[in-house]
Amino acid sequence: MRVLVVEDEPKMRMLLRRALTEEGYAVDVAADGPQALALADAATFDAVVLDVMLPGLDGFDVCTRLRRRGKRVPVLMLTARDAIADRVRGLDGGADDYLTKPFSLEELLARLRALIRRGPAERPAVLHAGDLRLDPATRTVTRGETEITVTGKEYALLEALIRRPGNVLTRERLIEHCWDLATSPYSNVVDAHIKALRDKIDRPFGTTTIETVRGAGYRLRRDGGRPTSPARTP
Ligand code: CA
Repeated sequence: MRVLVVEDEPKMRMLLRRALTEEGYAVDVAADGPQALALADAATFDAVVLDVMLPGLDGFDVCTRLRRRGKRVPVLMLTARDAIADRVRGLDGGADDYLTKPFSLEELLARLRALIRRGPAERPAVLHAGDLRLDPATRTVTRGETEITVTGKEYALLEALIRRPGNVLTRERLIEHCWDLATSPYSNVVDAHIKALRDKIDRPFGTTTIETVRGAGYRLRRDGGRPTSPARTP
């Protein structure tokens, strides 16, 4: 079993390397994010122990980039702060587990064994409509090479639509998917969010991905809404 340890503090890095080597793991170490990504490209690891507090590219960035490169290796994040926001950010960014510093080596080893037993996570398929991409694993939206920042609700709406391309979804159906029971299905909440979404995924690109179907609801175009080339005049 091969483990990559990413930690900038030399003492902690050596301690982890020694402890894991004694457990029988083959251990490679990286002192920063770029080095970690280079090693992850060069070799296949069974797990990564990733410190969040790294200079430059931090542990969150490293994890997100690993996932974007299609690496599904289990990641155990080491976080210095016991802040819920940090843990959530780590898990949302594709980490599989986390441990708050200071931690006991026994616990680290136990969690690592559990992660390796589970193996790489099943990755949900990336959803496409033309050059519009939605990645459920990282909850990111991209158009071509451009990453688009969307809110949680906008993401949820777009996911509901892109999972049923070409189908008309009523406002009631979208509310059912994306809002809680307290939201009145007669509110214009859907329209407001669709407008915000169009301002992000369509307007800057000159596309019409989300179509309004009058009296019915909304429909997402399979082709991602690329404008068709202008009709030739005979
Ligand atoms: Ca550190």
